[in-house]
Amino acid sequence: MTLSIPDYILAIEPYKPGKPIEELEREHGIGDSVKLASNENPLGPSPKALAAIGEHLATLHRYPDGGGFALTAKLAAKYGIAASAIVLGNGSDDVIVMLSRALLRPGDEALLPRPSFLMYAISVQSVGARPVFVPLNDALAIDLEAMRQRVTPRTRLVFLCNPNNPTGTVISADALDAFLQGLPPEITVVLDEAYIEFVRALNCAAGLNFLDRGRPVVTLRTFSKAYGLAGLRIGYGIMPPALAAILHRVRQPFNAGSLAQAGAAAALDDEAFLQQTIRLVHSGLDDLFARLDAIGVRYFPTQANFFLIDVRTDADAVFDRLLAEGVIVRSMRSYGYPHYIRVNAGLPAENDRFVTALGRVLKAT
Ligand SMILES: *Cc1c(COP(=O)(O)O)cnc(C)c1O
Repeated sequence: MTLSIPDYILAIEPYKPGKPIEELEREHGIGDSVKLASNENPLGPSPKALAAIGEHLATLHRYPDGGGFALTAKLAAKYGIAASAIVLGNGSDDVIVMLSRALLRPGDEALLPRPSFLMYAISVQSVGARPVFVPLNDALAIDLEAMRQRVTPRTRLVFLCNPNNPTGTVISADALDAFLQGLPPEITVVLDEAYIEFVRALNCAAGLNFLDRGRPVVTLRTFSKAYGLAGLRIGYGIMPPALAAILHRVRQPFNAGSLAQAGAAAALDDEAFLQQTIRLVHSGLDDLFARLDAIGVRYFPTQANFFLIDVRTDADAVFDRLLAEGVIVRSMRSYGYPHYIRVNAGLPAENDRFVTALGRVLKAT
């Protein structure tokens, strides 16, 4: 077969998702494995979301509300903003893609921290624009000064991940303020806040505080992490209404499914579940850190529900050995950290399995 594919599409490195848990268990002849690889909610989905999804099953022959009226209204009320500032997505990934399609011409540049969330580069490259990667600083944080220095007349878009995946570091409100003031006003700045619910640092920037500054600042939020609905695919962007109107032009008319809209709206009402999740993650992280200290393993502090561990040896090999013990983590080799793994806080018993297995694996290497 002859395919004529644009060079910029062929240049995209395909996203490698973690294998499904069932597949790994079959391959390794294990059962009862623990997955701490994708920063998911260890408690499962919110029970209120599950009930709302159940109630909407009988309407699956209908198209969803393409305007996402109920969920958008709920979000607008929660944040005290106009509904016209909100764009729903099939996961926040979908909003990232809409931003690239709406804002980038072939040859335009987008600034991306590296390492960070892989979807930014994929979306930028898929429209023929150029991803300009800016390394993190020595503290594994996004280097805003280095990013500012890479601005050119072709720069249209800046992606910031706060907290940053995979390093868990945050941008302070002051640092973001200064960065925005030093940036040409027509450049759109995206703050991906997928993990913002877990942040404990009081000085952390919040994208919403920059919504009314007369410049395009977009805040991305998702129901995939703290709300426990990763499989449902629902997220959203908050942005000046003029920019939201542009995104609606490139948005698929029914990009947010009816079950996703219903589940997300109910999850927003389940404040008790959200608080329980945050408490569990914080106590899980504190417990993991104490136990890693006790066995002399070096890790990095975090503001998210995951963190990096320096295993001081080949991370792919540690990943394989942990897998054989029934513990699934993420090797950071493909992110440029050949000696680091990333792990998220799980249930107490899962955290225990992980630390015990890691201790055994590191002793053996
Ligand atoms: C998990 C994650 C998301 C969420 O993506 P969805 O498409 O909403 O599931 C967004 N950004 C980052 C940095 C993430 O880690």
